[in-house]
Amino acid sequence: MAEKKEVKKKKGRARSALYKDGDCTAKACPKCGDGYWMAQHKDRNYCGKCKYTEFGTKK
Ligand SMILES: [Zn+2]
Repeated sequence: MAEKKEVKKKKGRARSALYKDGDCTAKACPKCGDGYWMAQHKDRNYCGKCKYTEFGTKK
């Protein structure tokens, strides 16, 4: 179990991968701005940085 390293910190650019299919609903935090992506939960998005929570991901 020694080779599991967290390589999740990416800077900018890599985000385009999130949108590759246009299927992803990931969106940037309106408070923190571009580059701070909100975590997606069942019915809400949550920013881990400023704790901003946005409800209403329904269509
Ligand atoms: Zn935020």
